[in-house]
Formats: sequence, C-alpha cells, structure tokens
Amino acid sequence: AVSMPEFVLPLSHEAFLRANRVIPGGVNSPARAFGAVGGEPPFITKAEGPYLYDLDGHQYLDYIGSWGPMILGHGRPEVKRALAEAVETGTSYGAPTLREVEIAELVAQVVPSIEKVRFVSSGTEAAMSAARLARGATGRPKLIKMIGCYHGHVDALLVQAGSAATTLGTPNSPGVTQGAVADTILCPFNSIEAVREIFAAYPGEIAALLMEPIAGNMGLVPPRPGYLEALREITEREGTLLMFDEVMTGFRVALGGAQELYGVTPDLTALGKIIGGGLPAAAYGARAEIMDHVSPVGPVYQAGTLAGNPLATAAGLTTLRLLRDENPYPKLEALSARLEEGLHRAASDAKVPHVVQRVGSMLTLFFHDGPVYDYDDAKRSDLKLFARFFWEMMARGVYLPCSQFEAMFVSAAHTEADIDFTIRAAEEAFKAIRG
Ligand code: PMP
Repeated sequence: AVSMPEFVLPLSHEAFLRANRVIPGGVNSPARAFGAVGGEPPFITKAEGPYLYDLDGHQYLDYIGSWGPMILGHGRPEVKRALAEAVETGTSYGAPTLREVEIAELVAQVVPSIEKVRFVSSGTEAAMSAARLARGATGRPKLIKMIGCYHGHVDALLVQAGSAATTLGTPNSPGVTQGAVADTILCPFNSIEAVREIFAAYPGEIAALLMEPIAGNMGLVPPRPGYLEALREITEREGTLLMFDEVMTGFRVALGGAQELYGVTPDLTALGKIIGGGLPAAAYGARAEIMDHVSPVGPVYQAGTLAGNPLATAAGLTTLRLLRDENPYPKLEALSARLEEGLHRAASDAKVPHVVQRVGSMLTLFFHDGPVYDYDDAKRSDLKLFARFFWEMMARGVYLPCSQFEAMFVSAAHTEADIDFTIRAAEEAFKAIRG
C-alpha cells in the first residue's frame, strides 16, 4: 500500500495489483511506479487544465505535465478540436502530408540551429538518430555523454556515471553490451576542464558531444555561466558536432529552447515532448548540409512507420502555434518564480536544508544546502526527506515528480491561486515533517 497511512487509494491499489500481473511493475515507463518514493501510484482517469484526477476520486494539481509535454495544461480546446478534425480524415497514411511540412517550417523558423528536421515518435529515437547522424556525417566513432544527462534508453547512451572524472562508459543495464558503449566517453556536467582532457586524449575521434543544455534528468541543473559558450568553441575547433538534447527544454524555457535562451547554437538538436502536444512525436534537426546525410538524400539510414503521424502533427502544430501566438513565457516565468520563492520560504521557515534550482518553468527542490552543479552534487540530496515531502504533498492534492532526479513543470494553465495553494501545502508539509 502507499506509504502515507491517511492517504489510501483502494481502487488504484486494486488496479495496480491487476496491472502487475500483466505489465512489468504495473507500468509502461519505470518512473511511474513510484519506486523512488516507496509507494503505489494513483491510476489516472482524466486530466483538465492544471489538474489530474484518479480512480479514487481525488483531484491533484499537476506538476509533471506528462513529464514535460503539457506546457499549455491539459485539454486545450484548440488542441482537442485539431485532434478531432484529424481523426475524421484518417489516423495514419504512411505517405507525406502538408501538415508535416507546416510543422517542419515552424520548427525551422523558431529553433536557431535547425534548417531541416526529421520527425520520429519518441525522444529516445530522436537522440539515437542524431547520434547516428553525427557519426555518419563526421566519420568518427566516439561520443561524449554528460554524467547525469538522459537521452532516452538508447544502448550507447544508457551509461551510468563512472567514479573517476572521465572514464570509459560501463553499461548500467543488463542487455547493453560493453561493445555498445565502448565508444561512449563519460564527462561530468559543468566542467570545461574535463571536456578539454577528453579532447586531448582522443584527438580526431569524437563525432559529437551530447548534452542537455539545461540538465533536467538529475533534477534541474543549469549550465554555469560561460559553460555552453566554451563547449561551443571547443567542439567547433575540434571538428566535433555539438548536440543539444532539447527534448525537455525545447519550446519550454523559450520558444526556441535553451539555444535561444543562452544564445548558443549547437550543430544538432533533438526535440520531443512539447513538439507532439501530448501525442507521440519527436524530431531531430540541424543545418541542411548536416541533415542531407540522412536517407533518402544521404546514406545515414533512419525511418518510421508512424513518423509524422497525422494526429501527432495536429496536436504538435496546434501547440507550437499557440506558444508562438500567445507567448506564455513571461507568465510562466512569473508563476515559476513565485513558486520558487514560496518553496524556498516554506523550507527556510521549517529549517529544512534545501536549495531550489530553476530555469523558466522547470524547477527542482533539492534537500541539501546546494548549489547543485553536477550529478554528484545532486546525489547528496536527502532522498528520505524528499520521499516524505512528496507524500505529504500528494496527501494535500499536489502531484510532484516522484523522483528527486526529475524537474517539476509549471504550465500556462496554472494560476497564481494554484501556486499559492501549492506553497501553503508545502508549508503544512514541512510542518508535518518537522513534527
Ligand atoms: N532526452 C531527454 C532530455 C529527456 O528528458 C527524455 C525523456 N524524459 C528523453 C530524451 C527520452 O524521450 P522519450 O521518453 O520520449 O523516449
């Protein structure tokens, strides 16, 4: 059962038992099982605006937003209408459509690094395809991957942090062979020195440096001032492609993503989450000269039965147009700053060691004094305290990410009143924890 005694979900519990008989862990993606906080997940029946609803009749303020995509909140009428219209004209053709051109044109217009873009169905595929393209286009074998950054469950990128500052990757999942990660070089996030050492050790061998420009998968960890600029300069000098995985940050921290926010343009970009407006879509893009290595123009093979799917492009294109036309980013910044301040004040008043890290509408409350610059810093957070806080917030109707190593997302459907409700819940939660 769930670990909060007063927080009982009998119908979700029954569903979870049933799910576990036919689905590994009862879930189709591991984080959803609530393993990190020691309990069972509510089963969701509906989402509307900033809210999630469960089988047992609870309403939650949603701060995961499907782990990123739902920047406009759930059930925007324009998106629902676009989807309904798309359903009427067929759900998949396996042949080109005008809507794919429209969404590609919009992406190329707003994302600085992109002239041409190829659509796929998941962020995993986008990162995997971008890595293949980098190797194919440069003719080099090796990839630099930042420790604590996640690029989906691609074999070559599913590598755990080594203990040394820079080490050759060792697989962190059974089923990933030593061979699959032999050309993956791990590097600590936010260290320019470590990157310099790697380039000195492998001259002319590195196809791409892959990174989340703002790390969101070790909790929220921004780049230090000057870090992205330095990586841009080094990779350019070394003939290595700089790849920003903006699956999480794209259309989130600014319409043009982290590359717009920081003014640093990578060679390759992976996109996902928001680009599908809540349906399965993702993409990778670059300047034309690089993308023309991709099949059928070039020899680097990549394909997809449901790539550019009519429903996914309907939801994605409508979402991107709304973001462009409504510009919710100043509002998201103000709401998120209010939340950051409120959480900080609540934790300070309760004398709970903490640091809140935030970029735009992505934020993480770490349970130590901070700051957090890399994965080692992030891992020093008090995970027991995190789990306690998580359940106290759930019991008060606030649904936070169920892992310390994920970011919270604020949506444009959240109001100031929602933020203040959340801050009051946090004040009560800290009081309960402190006894
Ligand atoms: N890259 C990043 C930065 C991500 O955050 C994620 C998913 N959280 C992925 C890639 C993988 O995307 P997907 O789950 O759609 O395969």
